[in-house]
Amino acid sequence: EKIDLTHVLEMAVNKIQIKAEEKRLTVHYNQETDIPLFVADGYRMEQIFTNLLENAVRYTEEGSIKVTISYHHSSIRIRISDTGIGISDKDIPHLFDRFYRVDKSRSRSLGGTGLGLSIVKRLVGVHGGRIHLDSVEGKGTTFTILFLLLEEENHNEKV
Ligand code: ATP
Ligand code: MG
Repeated sequence: EKIDLTHVLEMAVNKIQIKAEEKRLTVHYNQETDIPLFVADGYRMEQIFTNLLENAVRYTEEGSIKVTISYHHSSIRIRISDTGIGISDKDIPHLFDRFYRVDKSRSRSLGGTGLGLSIVKRLVGVHGGRIHLDSVEGKGTTFTILFLLLEEENHNEKV
């Protein structure tokens, strides 16, 4: 089914606002270009965005979370950045592994099972997408998801 990813992303952002406000974090959402409709499972897309947004809020103590969606070179790009604790170079290669959590004692006090990102990676893959992250310890983290549209989808009306 063809869905409007901006709509799904906006819903996920709205849902996370309450948790963000409790920590005095601001969430900025920006649709940078027109976005074509995309064949995807809306429920799973929401799971992807919600997991990443929950992480952004959980692992950020001050600053803001920026969410952008754009379309270039036949790909829809979704980016979620935070100004949080960041991830060290030694942890980055393991981050999408099941049950992997950075610094067990610290992470335990913040809750969570370590499954979130492994599920996100699988769901992105199911939709033919790719995910990667850039992070600087103590500065923040950015997750980028790319969904390449099929030729036929490129001719869809833009939303
Ligand atoms: P769950 O998502 O299952 O509730 P979790 O958040 O610990 O638990 P993942 O979402 O898989 O598990 O994340 C794995 C680990 O990666 C986290 O424990 C955390 O240490 C680190 N991490 C994930 N997202 C961020 C982020 N935005 N900033 C800093 N560290 C992060
Ligand atoms: Mg998580």
